[in-house]
Amino acid sequence: MAETESAPGAQEFIPPQADTIDELRAAAAGCQGCELYRDASQTVFGRGDESARVVLVGEQPGDLEDQKGLPFVGPAGRLLRKAVDDAGIDPGHIYLTNAVKHFRFELRGKRRIHQTPDRVHITACRPWLVAEFARLHPEIVVVLGATAAKALLGPTFRVTKQRGELLPWPAAAQHPEDFAGVPVDSAGKVADAPAARLLATIHPSAVLRADNRDVAYDGLVKDLKVAARALR
Ligand code: SF4
Repeated sequence: MAETESAPGAQEFIPPQADTIDELRAAAAGCQGCELYRDASQTVFGRGDESARVVLVGEQPGDLEDQKGLPFVGPAGRLLRKAVDDAGIDPGHIYLTNAVKHFRFELRGKRRIHQTPDRVHITACRPWLVAEFARLHPEIVVVLGATAAKALLGPTFRVTKQRGELLPWPAAAQHPEDFAGVPVDSAGKVADAPAARLLATIHPSAVLRADNRDVAYDGLVKDLKVAARALR
């Protein structure tokens, strides 16, 4: 798949009257904000507790997620759930989503090989992320890997340098104004959300690819424990 040069973006597909995550999810099913909808099976929107204390943001759905229409149900998702558990975060208090909501892949024979989304896809899909945050108001935002970090924190943020560090949210975002004082309902009510914090760590798929999985997994859990402690 060649580099995409431009995309109209998701904004026009977000109904202003969508007050809930379910309404957003229903609208996202018809998104054509970039070309990724054409080859993927379906939109994979975020899922979890609407009053989640922790929102985890990954890159994009994988092959299995694309087929099932649910985020983090493949091997990386299973590993993430275990890591969340091992870190002591209540799984009932999390919401899982991705920076890009369609699966980007390259066909090799019959196999669909994951392709990292380009900046244009991240930018096109960002309005969905902003809309999710406007309705969720988490206490902790966990950014999983470089693509999610680019989507929320801008291209200069380095996960390897700042992982496991609690940062102010939304002040640390590339466009903090998008995430602060956002209307949360169709009547124009504005969120008065308490200050939250952000923490970046590796994507669980990086653990699966690591030469030493145990060390990589321990590192992921260690970072998530920082989030768990911040919740108490
Ligand atoms: S990747 Fe995002 S912007 Fe592109 S079509 Fe899918 S939902 Fe819309």
